[in-house]
Amino acid sequence: CRDAAIPIESLDQLSKTSMPLCMRMCHEHIRAQHHIKHNGRMQYGLFIKGIGVTLEDSLRFWREEFTKKMDADKFARSYEYNIYHNYGKKGSMVNYTPYSCAKIIKDATGPGDCHGCPYKYMDQGSLKTKLSSYGLSASAVDEVMSFVSRGHYQIACGKYFQITHNSTVEPTIIHPNNYFEESQITMGN
Ligand code: SF4
Repeated sequence: CRDAAIPIESLDQLSKTSMPLCMRMCHEHIRAQHHIKHNGRMQYGLFIKGIGVTLEDSLRFWREEFTKKMDADKFARSYEYNIYHNYGKKGSMVNYTPYSCAKIIKDATGPGDCHGCPYKYMDQGSLKTKLSSYGLSASAVDEVMSFVSRGHYQIACGKYFQITHNSTVEPTIIHPNNYFEESQITMGN
């Protein structure tokens, strides 16, 4: 974990610069839909905890989005418990660990879901469009896709990191939170 807390006001910017695709897509899904299913809440909720978002800020983040679609009582009744739970403040009091790539890649996804590893679950046409919309050149998209088509999702993710950070080294990606840390270091934060 980072030493300094990450304010939720910086998540929009960080999602563009320092989050891997799996987390950026969850973030965008929440901002657009004001809702996200349970597995996505677990995947993204534990990730933001891991990068240094406090429990109070997490509650505020989810509440502000979800109450665009439901009243505050329903949010409190149906969703707050899980957020406390993820931070080890309810139930078994286990301080849950953010998910690794191995777990995220293994997770099954269905229609309307935003969790999972996009390099695996997206069809290749949609993934190419997404990568272009994130500013990758046609040749950079092809480079990333050459790993995707062979099932090398984590290497594709490392290539995406290298391209988007203009980095000479391609990091080995095993965990979204390491991706984030590596990004912050590369950017000098
Ligand atoms: Fe996320 Fe790992 Fe997939 Fe990259 S390889 S998008 S960090 S699950």
